Amino acid sequence: MPTERGESMPVNMRVPRRTLLVLCGSAGSGKSTFAAQHFGATPTTIVSSDHCRELICDDPNNQQANLDTFDLFYYIINKRLFNGRFTVADSTALRPDARRRLWEIARRHGYLACLLVFNIPAELCLERDQQRTRQVGPQVIAYHAELFQQALLAIPNEDWDQTHIFTDNDIEAAIEVEG
Ligand code: GDP
Ligand code: MG
Repeated sequence: MPTERGESMPVNMRVPRRTLLVLCGSAGSGKSTFAAQHFGATPTTIVSSDHCRELICDDPNNQQANLDTFDLFYYIINKRLFNGRFTVADSTALRPDARRRLWEIARRHGYLACLLVFNIPAELCLERDQQRTRQVGPQVIAYHAELFQQALLAIPNEDWDQTHIFTDNDIEAAIEVEG
């Protein structure tokens, strides 16, 4: 499996079924839209932290429920990988410990750990946030932008099998899951 780091060209990916696809980016960077566009036909492949939060407390914005939300998020991902299912982890994955946790789950199950980085300018994330029903607001976007810059520096030193960086120009990716 080739390792592609720091790629900014349009992305054509072929990944084995035993892949954990980890999305990484600020709120409003288009992660969930991307996941729905590519894997909407089989929505159960997408495990979303927002959805987990909603399942736990009926409020996808309730940050108080973070611990329980991520317990459930990792639990579902673990179970899916145990069952050999292709899985997309839809959370911000902006913190090193969050990425490490997902990477470890993939490794534990002998999965390929593949990171999709949404490198979208903060202004655009904010603009898109303001256009959607469920908004996180400018403070969260600014905080995420800061974490994202740290993530961009850290990711090349992490042990992902593949890393693809999307900019707003190359969000049109083709992803084929083999097998
Ligand atoms: P997330 O917070 O990273 O999951 O971002 P979302 O997928 O929820 O996208 C945030 C908003 O941006 C939504 O209203 C989307 O419809 C919009 N959006 C996402 N991707 C694109 C894109 O490629 N182009 C445009 N114009 N809007 C997008
Ligand atoms: Mg989302």
